[in-house]
Amino acid sequence: MRSMRVTFIFLLLAAATPAQRDSPPPSDRSKRIVIATGVLLDGKGAVLRNRQIVIEGSKIVAVDPRVGPADYDLRHLTVLPGWIDAHVHITWSFGPDGKNAGMNRTSQEAAYQSAANAWATLMAGFTTVQSVGSPADLPLREAIAHGQLPGPRLLTAIQGLQGRGEQTGTPDEIRAFVRKQKEAGADLIKIFASGGMLQGQMTLSQEQLNAACDEAKRQGLRTLVHAYRDAVRAATLAGCTQIEHGLGASDDDLRLMAEKGIFFDPQDGLLIDTYFRNKDRYLGTPFFPAEVFPGLEKALPLHHELMQRAIRISGLKIVFGTDAAAGGHGRNAEEFVYRVRDGMAPMTAMVSANALGAQALGMSDQIGVIIPGLQADIIALDGDPRNDITAVRRVLFVMKGGIVYKNAARPARGRRVSQ
Ligand SMILES: [Zn+2]
Repeated sequence: MRSMRVTFIFLLLAAATPAQRDSPPPSDRSKRIVIATGVLLDGKGAVLRNRQIVIEGSKIVAVDPRVGPADYDLRHLTVLPGWIDAHVHITWSFGPDGKNAGMNRTSQEAAYQSAANAWATLMAGFTTVQSVGSPADLPLREAIAHGQLPGPRLLTAIQGLQGRGEQTGTPDEIRAFVRKQKEAGADLIKIFASGGMLQGQMTLSQEQLNAACDEAKRQGLRTLVHAYRDAVRAATLAGCTQIEHGLGASDDDLRLMAEKGIFFDPQDGLLIDTYFRNKDRYLGTPFFPAEVFPGLEKALPLHHELMQRAIRISGLKIVFGTDAAAGGHGRNAEEFVYRVRDGMAPMTAMVSANALGAQALGMSDQIGVIIPGLQADIIALDGDPRNDITAVRRVLFVMKGGIVYKNAARPARGRRVSQ
């Protein structure tokens, strides 16, 4: 039994390559689908009216005003590209006892939980997520990429570089760690460069950070850096790709980030809300002693303050990342509501999880915009998020790579659509 499982995992690992290609089941490749839309947000900030989206196989082949028979009539909804969440922990679940069980479990029960998280995330309109990360992400990424399980397109960091001061290793050892993750099939490198939300120093020196982000760049991989306070500027100076969290960053730090074109992914409200909603389930589990909760309460207004400040920094590329943990999967879109309440324009919020999100993932040629040639990742909302951001909670239609996974909208098959 054990050796069978080892063989199975080995086969999955052997097949593991970055998940930036899609392989829907072969039977769906030639199928042509037409979607009629009324209000279409293209993903880059433009609003198109009364267009039909034509899909062949996994890709969009046309977006035009031509009137013809539609397979799906979504004219009463707001249609936009599937969302991208740049920061989730897709395997992080509650265990059989209902308590927080972390993200690295390998039991069969944990595997089902991960699959359930992926399903909930896809149903909530997220067609691509970046998990940052766990070795347990790998078999899930492969199963989804091969069309064996429904879920968002998954990218993973596998194992993060845990900053532990000098113990982390020499720059050369850090470079070797980065190459090892690449060999294991990582889509990106996750780096922990500082302590927690409210306290803790930098856990990597500037030299160590430089080595990690430079080696990743040489290997063609992006770097996501968990950074608070001083670590924000250090990661910016190291030329890393994206900075996560960021409490304690000054306006100068944010301006430097904008100047250097580094993506910023602060979390506004969903993360802390998830911990409080599920307090009984987190309390007393690793990293969640009772004294953590007053700290989280203190941190919440600081997150709002940072978001409000970041929004005002011109040119700062704020991407959409929720840090979804156990209890957060499928609720990712709540983060949009927090961000808009903190002053982000609704269209900016949408683009942050569409075209800008794709750019941050280095996947602009594949996802994030509804134009011919890109993956047919298309969702539809009951309501228009430009007027009412809570429309993001009402995802009625989800297509990923040309396959419809959810359709709670009115069926239109065989009806002629007149405009
Ligand atoms: Zn995280």
